[in-house]
This record gives sequence, structure tokens and C-alpha cells, in this order.
Amino acid sequence: NTKKITGALISVYYKDGLEPIVRKLHEENVSIYSTGGTQTFIEGLGIPVVPVESMTSYPEIFGGRVKTLHPAIFGGILHRRNLQADLDQAKQFNIPVIDLVIVDLYPFEETVASDADHQSIIEKIDIGGISLIRAAAKNYNDVVIIPSVNQYAEFLDILNAQGASSTLEQRKQFAKKAFMVSSHYDTHIFNYFNDGEETPVFKQSILESQSLRYGENPHQKGWFHGDFSAMFDQLHGKELSYNNLLDVDAAVQLMAEFENNDPTFAILKHNNACGLATRPTLAQAYADALAGDPTSAFGGILIANRPIDVATASLINDLFCEVVIAPGFDADAEEVLKSKKNRILLVQKKVALPTRQFRTLLNGVLEQDKDMLSETAANFESKTISVPTAQEVEDLIFANKLVKHTKSNTIVLAKNGQLLASGTGQTSRVDALRHAIEKAKSFGFDLKGAVMASDAFFPFPDCVEMAHHAGITAVVQPGGSIKDELSIDYCNANGVAMVFTGNRHFKH
Ligand code: 5GP
Repeated sequence: NTKKITGALISVYYKDGLEPIVRKLHEENVSIYSTGGTQTFIEGLGIPVVPVESMTSYPEIFGGRVKTLHPAIFGGILHRRNLQADLDQAKQFNIPVIDLVIVDLYPFEETVASDADHQSIIEKIDIGGISLIRAAAKNYNDVVIIPSVNQYAEFLDILNAQGASSTLEQRKQFAKKAFMVSSHYDTHIFNYFNDGEETPVFKQSILESQSLRYGENPHQKGWFHGDFSAMFDQLHGKELSYNNLLDVDAAVQLMAEFENNDPTFAILKHNNACGLATRPTLAQAYADALAGDPTSAFGGILIANRPIDVATASLINDLFCEVVIAPGFDADAEEVLKSKKNRILLVQKKVALPTRQFRTLLNGVLEQDKDMLSETAANFESKTISVPTAQEVEDLIFANKLVKHTKSNTIVLAKNGQLLASGTGQTSRVDALRHAIEKAKSFGFDLKGAVMASDAFFPFPDCVEMAHHAGITAVVQPGGSIKDELSIDYCNANGVAMVFTGNRHFKH
């Protein structure tokens, strides 16, 4: 299974990191073949190299579009070493033996990202390199393929440990990575050509994969396919778990609604907010978010819309929490929060959140636009004789934003820029409201003058009735039930203000 490496074809765009490999191959008496730029680089190291041209008897033509595309090269890679007929043909046509291929492709993705013009982007579609990768990976039985700079370190370790040779298992592993590289590369090209078209494509499928300690529970394996570091800098703490990542996602989606508010702090548990408050200072916002449900906050995920100062950090420090997310941390605040070894501190970078979401089910995937609709007072259509006061309008906007990020069926109760309680993920709206009322009362809140937001319409007047009895004075809901009038009538008879938005915000 272990095979010696005797001939290497090297054709890389960026030459960084190549030197130690080339030196080692030379030391091990491996013949090195190479394309123009790579050849110049290797010669510059004082190492002999055979230009591809002398194997193909062709120069590079068409401005480099055709360099390695030739039977001598592809025959050298693809002939089967265990088939006498192939060996005979190789001999007959003077085909060299190539049992190692190192490629680093034209930087297509980078060129697209650099805002280059269309023609420059097209020129960066690698043709020969991708073919070399596919050929060498197909013949992994005989050939080692190093398909990108990301595999150099691993390959160098192998060279240092066992000389210029490879095992079948190693070759197969590299072949797997090769097909990952080639499929990602083509996906990028596809996405470029597909730009702006509304096809259900996994734009985000070109992702790094990271295995997690486990999935939702310890007996489940778990992975994250994405680029966490593009969105966050982790300053401190343990590795994020599968459940942490779900919560971090819920937290950033929620806080995006309050990005431009006064200092706002949220505490989440199981992807729902259990505390949220907007206040003149962040420390006060934290204290009032915590007051919303100090029991649930234990082990929660915390997020702020402002950099965390030391006053806030000192308060947070008393709480056992998994993750703290903020646009930044003052140095002294960071010091305080680092006192707990496992506490995860994340600086959220200023990058746009993806606008599509995917979910697996049955044997496929659901895709949809994210719920990017965020109502303001302009979206409120008053339905009752009594109209909400200015403070109530603010609270209705606040509660309505929260409802959107809370599992359906949901009812949110809020007052003076503070979440008092919500009923989350209930199978009926009445249950959600009952739960919210009981919860708010259990934490000592007086619901008199509080507002209620609902993610979907009230099919019966029972909810407004319960809300009124609890002291709620203003309501926001989408409307649209055939029995809307019953709820409106009840509100009118009891002095409750109710507005409709016309927009449902289910979150299942
Ligand atoms: P060099 O700098 O050695 O001249 O070129 C290296 C680059 O050329 C690598 O990125 C490799 O993938 C690419 N390449 C190798 N052969 C061909 C070919 O026949 N056509 C094209 N378009 N690119 C090639």
C-alpha cells in the first residue's frame, strides 16, 4: 500500500509555503516538473526543475489558458500502475511517471471579492489546475494529490515522518479533500454566474466545516458548517457547543432589531429572550433584563447593543452565564469577565447577517428569506376607539420586535422598554398568554399599563379579555381573523387600545 513518490508536478498560483516541500522532495531525489511561474520560483531556490513545456513539446499558449492540458501530463497522472496494458502504452508514448501533484488554483473567489471586472474574473477560472486535481484524485490508487495550500502542512509532516512516500489511506484522504476543493471552486463559479437569481441554491454551502464536541445531546455527533470567525472574535472561554451556537444565532438576530436603540441588553435561554430592556445606561439595561426572569437567566446567553463597560461587567460577573456577546468590551470590563475560565466572550463584528435561511426536513431542505420585516408606528393601524399613548406605542414597537424572535405561539408582555414576560412555543395562544401573565406576576411585575404583542391574530376574543383582566391597556397583533370584530368590540367596551400590523411573525 505504501508507494514511493518519484515524480512531482507542481503548479501553484501562490508560492507561499511551497519552499520546504520542494526542498524535501529534492532531498528525496524526486523529479520535479513545473509550469512557468512555479518553475521560476523553484529555480530561484536553486533546485533543478523540468519545465512542463519540455514534456509536452508545447509552450504555454493563449496567455496561459493552456499550460498542462496535454496527454503527456494527464497520461503521466492517470495511467494505472497495476495494469500492464497501461504501463506498455505509457512506455510506447514516452509518458513520464507523475505520482505527486501539487496545485493551488487561480484565486477565483478572491478575484470576485476584489470587485474586478467581468473579464478578469473569467480569466481566473482555472482550467488546467482543476483538471490536474481531478485526474490525480481519480487515480489516488497511485498518485498523491495536494489540492491547495491548506494541505501543505499535513503533507510536509508525512514527508518528514516517512520520506517521499504515501500510504493508500493517506492518498485516499487527500483525494477526498481534492474533490472538496474542486466542488467548492465550481460552486463559487456557479454562484458568480447565478448572481441575483432567485434559485434555491446553497449560497452558504461553501463553508468550512468544524466538528463540535457533540450535537444537541452528548450521544449525538455535531458539526458547524460555516465561518464563525468572520462574524465573531472570541476573546475568552471554552469552545462553543452546538446549543451555544443556536443561542448565539438567536441572540444576534434579536439584537439586530435593537441595534440603533438606546443601550439595550438581552438575555436568552433556549433561543428565546427571557429578559430584555432598553435603558439610558447599559448597566441599567442589564439589571432590568435580568429582573425580567432571574431564574431563567442562569446559564443564559447575554447580548448587548453597546460595548460592555466595567459597571455592566461587574453586574454580569455575579451571574453564571454561558456566553456574552457585544460589539466590544472595555479593557477593564474584559478583565472582570475573564475571571470565569469557561465564560465565552464574543466580539460581534460589523458584518451583515445572511438574509436566507435553511432547515433540513424529510429528505430535503427548506429555504426561505429571513423575516426581515420590522414594524414601526407607521405600520400600526388603530382599530379601537381608544388609541395607545406615546409610551404605549413605544412599548408596542418593542414588544412586537420581540415577538418576531420568539418561538410561536407567542405572546410578549412589556412595559416602559422592558420585557415583563413572554409565553413561548405554546400550542395555543391562550396558553401563551396565560403563561406570560403568571410568569410576570411571579416575578413581581404589575401588569397595569403593560402592552401585549402577539405573533399571529386572535381567533377568538378570549386573549384580549384575559389581557384586560390582567391590566393590559394596549395590544398589537397582525389581525386577519374572521372574528377580529369580536376582539375589537371587547377592547372598545373595555377601553383597551388595539392596533393591527397586517404582518404575521410566526417563528416555528
Ligand atoms: P504558474 O504560476 O506556475 O505559471 O501557474 C500556476 C497556476 O496555473 C496554478 O494555479 C494552476 O492551477 C494553473 N494551471 C496549470 N495548468 C493550467 C492550464 O493548462 N490552464 C490554466 N488555465 N491554468 C493552469
